This record gives sequence, structure tokens and C-alpha cells, in this order.
Amino acid sequence: MGKEKMTEIGLERQCTKCHDWWPATREFFYATGRADHPKLHSWCKACYEEGRKDKRAASRRLQTGPQD
Ligand SMILES: [Zn+2]
Repeated sequence: MGKEKMTEIGLERQCTKCHDWWPATREFFYATGRADHPKLHSWCKACYEEGRKDKRAASRRLQTGPQD
């Protein structure tokens, strides 16, 4: 799970992928969990998008046969 710390500018959260600290808001982290009890994803948005891109690229490689 991600770590959080209180700073002068507010609560910050450490991304478990890039290990950078970001403000613990939905601007920097995707929300997860239930609507009435939201939590923030343990990866920052940038890492989350990067992971999705990698996954999409990998599945495209699998679908592409050797004939083309
Ligand atoms: Zn990150």
C-alpha cells in the first residue's frame, strides 16, 4: 500500500511504482473503492497510464501474427 505523510501544503502520498511524492488528491491519483468510501490508487496517474499503455502494447504484439 502507498504511504502518506502530512506536509506544509497538505497530505502527500507516495506512488508505489515511481516512489515520488504527490499531493494525495484525485488530481494526481485515480480514485478507487466505493463512492461513499473513496480511496486513492497506490500508483500515481502517470504510472497508471504508463502501465495501461504497456499492457495494450503487449496484447497488440500477441494479436499480430508472424505473417505480417
Ligand atoms: Zn508514479
